[in-house]
Amino acid sequence: MGVTSKSNGIKKIIIVGGGTAGWMTAATFSKVLTNYDCQIVVIESDQIGTVSVGEATIPQIALFNKILGIDENEFIVKTQATFKLGIEFVNWKQKGHRYMHPFGRYGVDMDAIQFHHYWLKMYQQGKAPDIEKYSLEALAAKQGRFNRPQKMGNSPLSNIAYAFHFDATLYAKYLRNFATNNGVTRKEGKVVDVVLRHNDGFIESLRLEDGELIEGDLFIDCSGFKGLLIEGALKTGFNDWSDWLPCDRAVAMPCTSTEKIKPYTISTAQDAGWTWRIPLQHRIGNGYVYPSQFVSDDEAVALLTSQMETAPLSDPNFLRWTTGTRNKSWNKNCVAIGLSAGFIEPLESTGLHLIQLGIAKLLSLFPSKGFEQVEIDTYNQQLNLEMERIRDFVIMHYKVTNRDDTAFWRFCKNMSIPDYLKQKIELYQNNGRIFRQDNELFNEMSWLAVMHGQGLQPKGYHPLVDTLTEYEIDRRLKHIQSVIDKSVSIMPSQVDFINQHCKSPTYTF
Ligand SMILES: Cc1cc2nc3c(=O)[nH]c(=O)nc-3n(C[C@H](O)[C@H](O)[C@H](O)COP(=O)(O)OP(=O)(O)OC[C@H]3O[C@@H](n4cnc5c(N)ncnc54)[C@H](O)[C@@H]3O)c2cc1C
Repeated sequence: MGVTSKSNGIKKIIIVGGGTAGWMTAATFSKVLTNYDCQIVVIESDQIGTVSVGEATIPQIALFNKILGIDENEFIVKTQATFKLGIEFVNWKQKGHRYMHPFGRYGVDMDAIQFHHYWLKMYQQGKAPDIEKYSLEALAAKQGRFNRPQKMGNSPLSNIAYAFHFDATLYAKYLRNFATNNGVTRKEGKVVDVVLRHNDGFIESLRLEDGELIEGDLFIDCSGFKGLLIEGALKTGFNDWSDWLPCDRAVAMPCTSTEKIKPYTISTAQDAGWTWRIPLQHRIGNGYVYPSQFVSDDEAVALLTSQMETAPLSDPNFLRWTTGTRNKSWNKNCVAIGLSAGFIEPLESTGLHLIQLGIAKLLSLFPSKGFEQVEIDTYNQQLNLEMERIRDFVIMHYKVTNRDDTAFWRFCKNMSIPDYLKQKIELYQNNGRIFRQDNELFNEMSWLAVMHGQGLQPKGYHPLVDTLTEYEIDRRLKHIQSVIDKSVSIMPSQVDFINQHCKSPTYTF
C-alpha cells in the first residue's frame, strides 16, 4: 500500500473477527485504502468459528461487488450462489395465503401519481388483479425465470432488480482470498484481553492467547454477537428491542436439493416464528427463527426437520441473540460492524446490508488519530436511524396479520408498536399513501408489497386518480400487465441461465 497519509493519520487498523463482517470490511478497506499508508490486520479464531448463516441478500449487494470490482459470474461459481428476485411469504396474512415481496417496482407512475393509486381504485372495485401481476420480478420468480438487465430502452427487461443467495462460509473465504491478495494480514489467534489507554479509555492493544500484544490505531469489532471490544471492553450498552421482535433463537440445517432451484427465498410463518428456505446450487439452506418464550430448542429442531424436503446435511446449528442495537456502534477508537453492532432477525435479509452500510459510513467519516466526536456522533445517528427503520419494517410483518390462532400470533396482534410504524400504517389505511423517509432502506414498493400482502386495505386512494376515466385507467393497467407478461415470457429459466453463465462444478440440474 502507498505512502500518502499525514503524521496523525491512522497507520494500523485491527479487525477482530473473520466472519462475513470481518472479511467484508477487510476486503473493502484493502481496495479503497490502496494508496493510504495503513496496515490492515484481521484476527480470527478457528477455535471459535463464525455463525455460518446469512445466505440471502438484497440488491444493494451489487454495489458492494462493484466497489470491489468482483466478477459476478466468478463470485457465483465460487460461492454456489443463485439469484434472488424477492421473498415469498407463506401463511403470514393467514394460513394458506402466500404473497411475494419482490425487488424492483410495480407498474409505472402516471401523471406524477404513484402507480399503486390507479391500481387501488380498480382493485377495490374488483376490476384489477392482485398487485403482483404488475411486478416483473414477482412474475419471473413464480415462473422460475431469471435474466440480468438487458439494454432494451423502455422495456422492463432493462431494469431487473436482483440479489443472491450464497453459501456464507464460502463467501467469507472468497472475500478472505480477495483481501489477503490485496495486502491484508491474517492472524490466527484468540483475543483474550483488551488493553485500554489510562488517560482516555481508548483501546491501545489486544492480547492473544499465546501472549502476543497487537497494537493499533483503529479497532473494528467484528467479533459477532458478544461484541468483544465494543461491549466486553468498552461497556457501550445495548438498546433492547425484544418487546417488539420476540424471536430470539434460530436453528439452521441445510439439506440436499431435489428440484430445479427457485429464484426466491421462501419464508413460512409457523405457529410461533417462521422458517426460511434458501435454494443454493449445491444444497438448500433451511432454518427456523423462533421465540424461546413459546418454543423449546427440541421442539424447534423437530419442526424444522419435519418440514425439510430431504435429510439434513449437518447437525443443527443453534443461534441465540437479543434483538436490538448497541447504544453507539462507534465508541472511542472502536467501530462495531456486523452482529457485534446489533441484530434484527433475518426476515428481510438485512444483516449483510447493515455491514455494507457500516463500512460505507465509516469510509465517508474515516478518522484521523484525533477522532473527532462530532464525526463519531454523526456515524452513530445515521446507523441508528437506519436500524430503527428496518426494525419497524420487520415488526410490521408480525403486527399486521389476520392470524390469531396461537398464543404467539395473539401476542403479536396485541403488542404496541413504534410511533413511526403506527403512522405509516394509518397513512396507508386511509388513502393508500406511502412515503419513503430519510432515505430509509425499504422504499415505497417494499412497504406496499408487505402492507398489502399482510392484509391492510386502504379505505380510499389518491383523489387525483379520478382525473382519468375508469376506461382509460383500465386500458393503461391492461397494457402494463401485457408488457410485463410478454417480457417475462422471453426470459430464460434461472436453471438455463446458471448452466450457461455461472454453474458451480457440483450443480447437476
Ligand atoms: C439465524 C440468522 C440468519 C441470518 N440470515 C441472514 C440472511 O439471510 N441475510 C443476511 O444478510 N444476514 C443474515 N444474518 C446476519 C448475518 O449472518 C451476519 O450479519 C453475518 O454473518 C456477519 O456475522 P459476523 O461476521 O458479525 O459474526 P460471526 O460470523 O459470528 O463472526 C465472528 C468472528 O469473530 C471471531 N471471534 C470471536 N471472538 C474472538 C476472539 N476472542 N478472538 C479472535 N476472534 C474472535 C470468530 O472466530 C469469527 O471469525 C443472519 C443471522 C442469523 C443469526
